[in-house]
Amino acid sequence: PQAPKQAGAGKLELPGVKKIIAVASGKGGVGKSTTAANLALALSRMGLKVALFDADIYGPSMPLMMGLAGIKPGNRGDRILPLENHGVKVMSIGFMMPDDAPIIWRGPMVMGALEQLLREVEWGDVDVMVVDMPPGTGDTQLTMSQRVPLAGAVIVSTPQDIALLDARKGLNMFRKVEVPVLGVIENMSYYVCPSCGHREHVFSHGGARQAAEQLEADFLGEIPLDIKIRETADEGTPIVVADPQGAHAKAYGEIARKV
Ligand code: ADP
Repeated sequence: PQAPKQAGAGKLELPGVKKIIAVASGKGGVGKSTTAANLALALSRMGLKVALFDADIYGPSMPLMMGLAGIKPGNRGDRILPLENHGVKVMSIGFMMPDDAPIIWRGPMVMGALEQLLREVEWGDVDVMVVDMPPGTGDTQLTMSQRVPLAGAVIVSTPQDIALLDARKGLNMFRKVEVPVLGVIENMSYYVCPSCGHREHVFSHGGARQAAEQLEADFLGEIPLDIKIRETADEGTPIVVADPQGAHAKAYGEIARKV
């Protein structure tokens, strides 16, 4: 790939895209992608034109989660047309490569690929673009935060101390590049036993709220650990669409109204 433009070369321009929100986490596996997909769908249910950009280059999950696995985006001239499902436009590096190809690119190549995708996609009119960021706080994330004109970032964390510690790093990264941190979402907040209704705080509880307070960031809400959230995401119809009247859809909807 061509050498990417260096950080500081200015922001990418995405004509037609009004607002871009990053969904980030300090580490992987905390449910960042699941949250990004459900948040995008909740924003769409509010009547907004929504796009979802999967920048999680090492483990792109949007093709599967948005029910678009195995489908290739079309072209118009030299522009790539985003795919669309559940009313949301979706673009992922995952559409561009075979499922079993491991990504072993170095940081600059990752940035080059992400920038190219962002630039060459014909997004059309978009009120909000949700970006599923790569996990962590390395160079890629930093460059991405500098190059993409982000309106703000939300940080997803489990309540566990270690995830929170990483979430703090994520938060500080965005502050460093002057991207407003819109707040913290606690995912896998608690588990409700389907037979008896007992709440189990598997990863302890309330940590994200506390950390948000300490870091003077808003606490945007909590999402429980529920097998239905995983199953619906795996099936390509996330919970906000699969059970639009349910408690989880409501919780994502409340978060969507705050961002
Ligand atoms: P990340 O993007 O942070 O790596 P994912 O969104 O891919 O994390 O989630 C990791 C795994 O956890 C997936 O199998 C996903 O379905 C599951 N998961 C995420 N959030 C929840 C939740 N609230 N309840 C149950 N499973 C969840």
